[in-house]
Amino acid sequence: MKRCRVCGSSGIIYDRNNIKAGSQGELKVCQCIEKQCTCGGIEPYQVFDGNGNHSWCSCRGTRMKLNTVKKAFKESQIPSKYKWKFREDFEINHPTANKIIGFVDTIRDKKPNEKWKDGFYLWGQAGSGKTLLASIFLQELILKYAQSGKFVDLSRQFFSRLKRSYDNTDELYGTGGQILDELINVPFLVIDDFGVQRNTDWESEMLYNLIDSRYAEERVTIITSNLNISEYKKVAMGRVYSRILEMCKIVHIDLPDYREKFSNQI
Ligand SMILES: [Zn+2]
Ligand SMILES: [Zn+2]
Repeated sequence: MKRCRVCGSSGIIYDRNNIKAGSQGELKVCQCIEKQCTCGGIEPYQVFDGNGNHSWCSCRGTRMKLNTVKKAFKESQIPSKYKWKFREDFEINHPTANKIIGFVDTIRDKKPNEKWKDGFYLWGQAGSGKTLLASIFLQELILKYAQSGKFVDLSRQFFSRLKRSYDNTDELYGTGGQILDELINVPFLVIDDFGVQRNTDWESEMLYNLIDSRYAEERVTIITSNLNISEYKKVAMGRVYSRILEMCKIVHIDLPDYREKFSNQI
């Protein structure tokens, strides 16, 4: 089948123009699938011939995938100001931006059975656009592969929830293993604001568990940080640092026009 230029043959698109009240757009099945569909898009997506025999409509696989993608977005915990941002939300002409967008295009061009393995360590000062770029990556990956992805803020979510899991008066008591497992197993993970943790022995150990297990499972991890990776090496355990080097492409995000261009948008 010829590759669809609209959806990259994933069959699912995010339609930002179809704005309904209360939402910013809509995930839906691409025209290339709708054109072939003869079931009217009605569950269980069956078609009947004149003799009363039924078969599955050609749209069925994609419609079921759409439900998976919708669920993944719902559970992604991407902050609202970064949610529903895709490649098209980052059109600025700058070498660093072009490089990142080039990676996103490579993701889109992958065949469905071709995995994406590269992680990223995106670093730059506050307001440099790194969190937006990380969020775009995450959302492109969820859309392309129809697998779960999560956004986590280390200090505010990960460590504070883990600590609460040790407090026997807290509702999260005893859930520490579950919190860690969830982040180890999710196929795509953004770790936002890396390096701001206090780096106590306990925090370093937990972080190493997370990073090393994701490395072993070949999961995709996208990290944002204010710190140059070599500065990070000074403040943290060397073994976390060397794992990151093995898992991630290091990209310095320094977009001079970013603040002005995007201040209205995010
Ligand atoms: Zn299409
Ligand atoms: Zn159909």
